[in-house]
Amino acid sequence: MTLPTSLDEAVAALSAMPAAVPVAGGTDLMAAVNKGLLRPAGLVGLGKIAEIRGWQYQDGHALLGAGLTHARMGRPDFAALMPALAAAARAAGPPTIRNAGTLGGNIATAAPTGDSLPVLAALEATLVVAGPGGARRELPVSHLLAGMERLRGGELIGFVRVPLLHAPQVYLKATGRTGPGRALASVALVLDPARRGVRCAVGAVAPMPLRPLEAERWIASLIDWDAERALAPEALHAFGDYVAAACIPDQAPDGTPQELPPAVQQLRRTVAVLARRALGRALA
Ligand SMILES: Cc1cc2nc3c(=O)[nH]c(=O)nc-3n(C[C@H](O)[C@H](O)[C@H](O)COP(=O)(O)OP(=O)(O)OC[C@H]3O[C@@H](n4cnc5c(N)ncnc54)[C@H](O)[C@@H]3O)c2cc1C
Repeated sequence: MTLPTSLDEAVAALSAMPAAVPVAGGTDLMAAVNKGLLRPAGLVGLGKIAEIRGWQYQDGHALLGAGLTHARMGRPDFAALMPALAAAARAAGPPTIRNAGTLGGNIATAAPTGDSLPVLAALEATLVVAGPGGARRELPVSHLLAGMERLRGGELIGFVRVPLLHAPQVYLKATGRTGPGRALASVALVLDPARRGVRCAVGAVAPMPLRPLEAERWIASLIDWDAERALAPEALHAFGDYVAAACIPDQAPDGTPQELPPAVQQLRRTVAVLARRALGRALA
């Protein structure tokens, strides 16, 4: 295993050894190796690259290093900056996993249950990808998660650019058990007062986080952004139902109604409750 100390050195090591794979905390990668699903020809460790283990501010955005661990993102100073991402990090597995697992690994693995992913989708975050020869390119996180764009050979996620909205943000996760566990469903909701917007993303119910755009626009139009941002309980309920129906439709693509299996109906109810609560908390 090579242990480069800069992003460009890591990219060079990967380019020189195309069969090698990058490893950050190893929580996903080593699980795959231990299960016999992966036999990497070589490893490029990212754990010694100081430049991707913190964050910096840039033009109204935070530039988060891909090597930030969940444990670090869960701390109060980070939570003051990115409350929903901190809440997602605190919910990402047991402490041993949170100490090792990183933001970049969570994104690259792109598991439907990845806790940071709905938050990044709601925040409309972009990735800063490092490539050979010092190249940097940006792509929306959602494009990577939807498979519209991929990391090319030798490329690494260096940073995640996230807008600083200075407004309430909430992340809620249902696991179906007490204690740490993978999400059955999750909801990230952020308010964007400058654009008078509500942005919401639902995790774990589909291969990638889903944005209920019509529900977002409808609820944003009901909020009095210049006064107390309160909504009647009926509006919160209707928002929850709207989000759930958008993400788990009970109509076939041709518009014919279809009977959902009981487990899916339960999942739909869970999404509705999470979305309603998330909005209620953000407006409280
Ligand atoms: C017991 C257990 C419980 C877990 N619970 C949760 C949970 O509740 N919620 C959750 O979201 N996740 C959970 N996970 C998954 C995992 O911990 C996270 O996805 C973690 O963020 C992965 O980060 P890592 O640094 O360990 O990634 P690694 O295992 O090091 O790498 C994962 C993948 O990402 C690639 N990669 C890593 N960094 C980069 C980079 N900078 N650029 C490009 N590619 C990169 C690697 O090549 C590899 O393919 C759990 C895992 C385990 C084993």
